[in-house]
Amino acid sequence: MNKENQKLCKACAKPIFGRKDKIYCDAYCRSNFQYKKSKISKGKKSLHEKIAKQLRKNKQILKKFNKSGKTIIQESELLTAGFNPSIFTHYWESKKGNQYRFVYEQGFMNFIEKNKAKYILITWQEYMEPQLKAKPSKRTYNKLK
Ligand SMILES: [Zn+2]
Repeated sequence: MNKENQKLCKACAKPIFGRKDKIYCDAYCRSNFQYKKSKISKGKKSLHEKIAKQLRKNKQILKKFNKSGKTIIQESELLTAGFNPSIFTHYWESKKGNQYRFVYEQGFMNFIEKNKAKYILITWQEYMEPQLKAKPSKRTYNKLK
């Protein structure tokens, strides 16, 4: 066997001798590697946990910045606080056609004013409730690219 074909132990990276299908040099290396692997996978957060965590964070941030119920704020201020506009619970569209995203009762929509990226923050009102019912979109449909 030449050097390039020499199999190395998955745990300690030393050359393996003996049976062709061996991937560890011994039982110690095998259990050591599997223990480490299980520790790593336990540390990883599931997608569900990550989204739940960001939703909580987004809600706290919006609540903090929107004490009056309607606020205009610089985009940079929200993002610096750790806000992620991609994580939200639902949409609501105003009569004017402004589409707000909500994190539960905290609503937000980005816009440009005097070349500055801003957000308008609103809070959920009872009259918005009917839009929570599922129905076909009135708006233009997306084109699948
Ligand atoms: Zn080994």
